[in-house]
Amino acid sequence: MDTIDFRSDTVSWPTPAMRAAMAAAPVGDDVYGEDPTVHQLEALAAQKVGHEAALFVPSGTMGNLAAILTHAARGESAIVGEDAHTYQAEAGGMAVLGGILPQVLPTDAYGCFSLTDLKNAILPEDEHYTRTRLILLENSYGSKSGYPLPPDYFAAVRAIAQQHDVRVHLDGARLFNAAVALNLDPHQLTQHVDSVSFCLSKGLCAPVGSLLCGSAPFIREARRARKILGGGMRQAGVLAAAGLVALNEMIERLADDHAQARLLAEGLAHIPGIAIDLAMVRTNMVFFEVTPDTQLTADNFIAQLRERANIWLGAVGPRHFRAVTHYWISAADVERFLESTRAIILSGNR
Ligand SMILES: *Cc1c(COP(=O)(O)O)cnc(C)c1O
Repeated sequence: MDTIDFRSDTVSWPTPAMRAAMAAAPVGDDVYGEDPTVHQLEALAAQKVGHEAALFVPSGTMGNLAAILTHAARGESAIVGEDAHTYQAEAGGMAVLGGILPQVLPTDAYGCFSLTDLKNAILPEDEHYTRTRLILLENSYGSKSGYPLPPDYFAAVRAIAQQHDVRVHLDGARLFNAAVALNLDPHQLTQHVDSVSFCLSKGLCAPVGSLLCGSAPFIREARRARKILGGGMRQAGVLAAAGLVALNEMIERLADDHAQARLLAEGLAHIPGIAIDLAMVRTNMVFFEVTPDTQLTADNFIAQLRERANIWLGAVGPRHFRAVTHYWISAADVERFLESTRAIILSGNR
């Protein structure tokens, strides 16, 4: 890559193996159900998460929305975390396009609901109320430092959902980061949900695409939702070919990204003027802040990193940042980040 880009893992370019696979991919019209490479990707995706079937969609947002529209109908509601991606960062799709009411619950330091809140939020049958149809979960939890949530949480949520005939969808945009961080088979994180979506285009490096997985009847309906949303693609095998490389070759190496994030976090913790909670750094995300005594603002710090070292970073608050590691970030890049940060703080107004 021409810059050292810590803004997100979405910026990761496809690998040389992906570009070669894309060039060679057999294709067909996938809306006619005739693209062999898409079929192969969907079969592999379903197998990876232990669900019956899968659907290739252009984005994580579409995977989640197709799932929500399939599980719930106009006038029904979905329980969702106050800082969940599906609530905060998908432009209100469930309400805009589905007429589905989000029932928003607080989340704890890791991104979990209190189980008591959850039970209380499921509305009884009464003409005054919407019908609670769905619970939306996320793993790893993006707004909480990409924290990987353990299987027993999903089992507990599932038990409550089943008592009330409510479905559970998992936004697993970074599901494999969570599985690798916890050293678990992804099945252990997906066995307690009715559907799960995951992204190929983040840490897994594919250029485009996500998979929505669930039962065969669910996926047949979700295929219709994808068509409504304009996500029926034709010779999509060109994209699916990169996805096959992502699932076959790029999952286990996520551990490298996590190790780099750890290295970055520990380095930052030693720099005066930086505040960071090391216990939250479990996957490929490092949230940190510059302390007020540095007199640095987020914009100022970001501009200096770019000027000094061609390092790109994103702000999440007035003095707060999120650095994300991925395939194209090397150990030398992490070292450069640390050196530049030290230099910026030392040369500041301390
Ligand atoms: C990135 C992301 C999505 C959406 O994926 P897009 O492909 O950007 O639409 C959904 N949920 C989470 C937690 C994400 O990080």
